[in-house]
Amino acid sequence: MLHFVDVILPIPIPKLYTYVITEAEVQFLKPGMRVAVPFGKRKIFTAIVHHTHNNAPLVYEAKPIYQILDEKPVLTQKQLELFEWIGNYYLCSLGEVVRAALPSGFLIESETVIKSANLEVKDDTGLNDDEFLIIEALQHQSSLSINDVINILEKQRVLPVVNSLIEKGLITVQEELFETYKPKLVKFIKLNDQYKSEKKLQLILEQLSKAPKQREVLLTFFSMQAKEKGALKTSDLKSAVEASDSVIKSLIDKGILVEFDKKTDRVQFEGEVNETGLKLQDFQQIALNEINENFKQHDVCLLHGVTASGKTEIYIQFINQILQQNQQVLYLVPEIALTTQLVERLQAHFGEQVAVFHSKYSNFERMEVWNHVLEHSSKAQVIIGARSSVLLPFKNLGLVIVDEEHEQSYKQFDPAPRYHARDSAIVLAAIFKVKTLLGSATPSLESYFNAKQNKYGLVEINQRYNNVLMPEIELVDLKDKYKRKRMKGHFSDRLIEEIQEALSNGLQVILFQNRRGFAPIVECLTCGHAPQCPHCDVSLTFHRYRNQLRCHYCGYNRAVPQQCDACGSSHLDTKGFGTEQIEAEAKELFPDAKVTRMDLDTTRGKYGYQKVIAAFEQHEVDILVGTQMVTKGLDFRNVKVVGIMNADNSLNFPDFRAHERSFQLITQVAGRAGRTDERGKVLVQTFNPHHNILQQVSQHKYYDMYAEQMNERHNFKYPPIYRLIKITLKHKDFNKVNLAAEWYAKSLRQFFGAYVLGPEFPPVSRIRNQYHKNILIKIAAGQSVKKTKEAVVKINNSFESVKDFKAVRVVLNVDNY
Ligand code: ADP
Ligand code: ZN
Ligand code: ZN
Repeated sequence: MLHFVDVILPIPIPKLYTYVITEAEVQFLKPGMRVAVPFGKRKIFTAIVHHTHNNAPLVYEAKPIYQILDEKPVLTQKQLELFEWIGNYYLCSLGEVVRAALPSGFLIESETVIKSANLEVKDDTGLNDDEFLIIEALQHQSSLSINDVINILEKQRVLPVVNSLIEKGLITVQEELFETYKPKLVKFIKLNDQYKSEKKLQLILEQLSKAPKQREVLLTFFSMQAKEKGALKTSDLKSAVEASDSVIKSLIDKGILVEFDKKTDRVQFEGEVNETGLKLQDFQQIALNEINENFKQHDVCLLHGVTASGKTEIYIQFINQILQQNQQVLYLVPEIALTTQLVERLQAHFGEQVAVFHSKYSNFERMEVWNHVLEHSSKAQVIIGARSSVLLPFKNLGLVIVDEEHEQSYKQFDPAPRYHARDSAIVLAAIFKVKTLLGSATPSLESYFNAKQNKYGLVEINQRYNNVLMPEIELVDLKDKYKRKRMKGHFSDRLIEEIQEALSNGLQVILFQNRRGFAPIVECLTCGHAPQCPHCDVSLTFHRYRNQLRCHYCGYNRAVPQQCDACGSSHLDTKGFGTEQIEAEAKELFPDAKVTRMDLDTTRGKYGYQKVIAAFEQHEVDILVGTQMVTKGLDFRNVKVVGIMNADNSLNFPDFRAHERSFQLITQVAGRAGRTDERGKVLVQTFNPHHNILQQVSQHKYYDMYAEQMNERHNFKYPPIYRLIKITLKHKDFNKVNLAAEWYAKSLRQFFGAYVLGPEFPPVSRIRNQYHKNILIKIAAGQSVKKTKEAVVKINNSFESVKDFKAVRVVLNVDNY
């Protein structure tokens, strides 16, 4: 009897490929193992075993596999189940899901380029001949393709050798290089715990009567420490006492003061694991009990808790429960910017058991985390990560937490799989038969609707930790301010007053502007011409710091012109404003304050965020200017004022979710203010202070927003009442896109009639020289999603067989965001 294996190739074709295997191989192979297979004329791919069987393929003759690459599966059965769900639901191939899930080091193929990891190989006795040859070759050449390796080793079957070197950390696959940055550690000083009692203190002070300098330093320490709760920066103490370093040092040597390194000023996390954790306040404990109650009936529970109500503290209690059962927890966050603070908070409770997985990690680090998760090692009990961590090989998952569940960054936009990590996480949890906890201060309409329909449980918290009041939100009418000349640059008098007061009280400020760069448009005052991107249908954004015009869609850039491209006039001016401009104005208005910016331009590299966030936490920065990055769940303790420079941009965005999003965005930024002690103050600058959304935001009326928006979604047939599939056609030829889109829409209409909208050009209709045209399918509540998708796939297949449209790219986006 012949044996075959069906494998998943990491390519966009939605089918499995069949290869011949031997009797011995069939005994050995298990689903989820990797095999090297030939593909096409000369290519080698790493493929994933799906299943084995005895049915020869009908239309082609199966080739043998080259080699088995694993002793044990690298993907689990349950993972494959999730991947199949994602492939079916989001209309993409299993191979695309596999490619998104696996760190590239697991998927070596003929096009892969390897390079030396620059580790010194001191002892090459551990290397076999083949490995040695490759390492040697990499000493002469900076990189090798797999084909080079084939030539060097004079054989086709090279992937195991390459894999083994990757596993040993001696080579890496070529990808973007990340900077290596160690977060800056600041020296702090505190009283030795031993001397915390009043009595003991008296004793030391007496003992020190013979060392007056040391005594004086200690007294100064106490007077300063009273303000700062426990620990001080060593440098602050030094500058306060005018004593030489040796005096402080002798106090440390005597064990009276203790010096330690710290990344942040979170007083309770002094590098010690605090096993018991914080004590939940009553309302938090009630919420926790309610969630437990809800879980008896629901697999998913939505925790709707206002900002700074302590949702994270509640998650921590749940994590604790799960870890005691020796199960893993997946903790999803929308953006890696958030991981820094969170990891610190979680490590304070769970120490080494916390693992982080994100795309800015090097390939090697990602493979390491992958293996820890797969082996359920003690280092990967709590896995924090953005979107793609839902695709990890969990062994014994016990709970999924999705924080800031409303965030749109949970939906992958490009490339396929265009999956929603929150929704996929719920499916993942269901596969493991465990619970999912969704949390947000501003739930998505989808989730809140599901809760209202009793599909999910719902628990609400309406108060903040310590009973701190919700921030006071003041709407500032820009029209009026401009008319009465109360503006300095983009700052209203009210905003300036509040900032000044906060600064003079030693408190911090966050300024939010949802555009980066200096100004989105440079305009000729003579003829009105604005420089456009040559490849995209958008104006170029002015970045003053680099003196460049940049396209935010494709990255194209050019120097700022001295004269208008169209008429030659030199009267050029900017229109609109971005974070760079706000930063510049803030520096001018508040010359004594330290101002920093957090946006895509200042946070590149692996530790980009960390640097900015740490500096702000340590109060090395007074005013933080940022894009939506500053909105997402960050927990700062000294922020008194939040300024939203212009609320109108996001309100006027041409998208059916724009109002919901604006509410979320403003509420979330506002929520960064006054989180632990003092009530925060938020100023929202706008030309439309009477806009319903702004009224709802300023009065913290989530439910009103929900009810009103749901009404609109009903009326205009949008999610969560209807489901959407967006189909985008792309081609460089304008006419071809039009023809193709007409053909496509017409075919769809035969099935779905009036539920098909378009084709229509999106607001930015050309990106990277490709024209885009969209068609939208709406799926009513009663309609079968499965049948709809089958019909779409069928139409898509016939479209792809039309010769004229061969080069037109089609993007299917299910549950488009
Ligand atoms: P959320 O996640 O709801 O925005 P957090 O969990 O970040 O709220 O809590 C806000 C702040 O209050 C954090 O700094 C947190 O450490 C603190 N906090 C919340 N609950 C407690 C508690 N029970 N004991 C001590 N501090 C708490
Ligand atoms: Zn001009
Ligand atoms: Zn462009």
